[in-house]
Amino acid sequence: DTLSKLPNHAGLSAVIPGWFSEISPMWPGEAHSLKVEKILFEGKSEYQNVMVFQSSTYGKVLVLDGVIQLTERDECAYQEMITHLPLCSIPNPKKVLVIGGGDGGVLREVARHSSVEKIDICEIDKMVVDVSKQFFPDVSVGFEDPRVTLNIGDGVAFLKAVEEGTYDAVIVDSSDPIGPAQELFEKPFFNSVARALRPGGVMCTQAESIWLHMDIIEGIVANCRQIFKGSVNYAWTTVPTYPSGMIGFMLCSTEGPTVDFKNPVYSIDEDDKQSTRPLKFYNSEIHSAAFCLPSFAKRAIGSK
Ligand code: SAM
Repeated sequence: DTLSKLPNHAGLSAVIPGWFSEISPMWPGEAHSLKVEKILFEGKSEYQNVMVFQSSTYGKVLVLDGVIQLTERDECAYQEMITHLPLCSIPNPKKVLVIGGGDGGVLREVARHSSVEKIDICEIDKMVVDVSKQFFPDVSVGFEDPRVTLNIGDGVAFLKAVEEGTYDAVIVDSSDPIGPAQELFEKPFFNSVARALRPGGVMCTQAESIWLHMDIIEGIVANCRQIFKGSVNYAWTTVPTYPSGMIGFMLCSTEGPTVDFKNPVYSIDEDDKQSTRPLKFYNSEIHSAAFCLPSFAKRAIGSK
């Protein structure tokens, strides 16, 4: 076979002892690896396998069904962008819903906004919440904000029961579309999100990688253009420990007051100067820059 003909080199072994390799059919032919210092937790919930390990260069790592969800070192790039891209695009958000996000990182970011009065979260898997509280105190700190109400359950069912026009913003911090998050990428779910938003309300959802999943992205964009009658835009950020090193976001608004996602109406930079826990990644310049797409993605996604 071909492998045995390759020169004997450490990097060529199929599994590197002492390293975690992220192997998945969602990114065939590649597998990002991190050196493991110690496995801290291994469990199986009703929905997925949950693991936490100490890596040698990215701090503690949370893994669900073999897929890295966050590392202490680069979680800021994801949590800050998925939250402040939508919330800084509208004036004075008051009611915010988070779907997924059981680690609490998005809650931590929503809580930076002083206009916010109510933060609901619906996470399907209580084990994710418990494990985050035990191993990731700087992330799960989000649960300590008194405006937060935690609901354990399926986000799809939760949204169906929400009264029309309830939220200013819905943030969908989900895992990949294989497993419990599958329905969070489908049309009926986006319909419920649009219904749950007030006119001119905004949604931001995790929307995969332009390097790996353009087909999935094109599907999401097509669905969102049908459902959201305001703005529909794709933005992205760099996250070194996500497959292909980046992740995208789909930002949509409902019919009503116009939302220009590329030009934030609220600058969090000033508030941040007073914060005891300053932002590590997000600022107003990177907000606008996040909507600039490489030419190949621009052609496939387009923008309005
Ligand atoms: N916040 C993370 C980060 O920093 O990159 C990203 C992933 S977060 C842990 C994704 C969460 O979505 C998981 O905890 C998973 O249990 C949850 N989830 C998946 N499907 C869901 C559903 N149908 N309803 C609610 N939550 C769901």
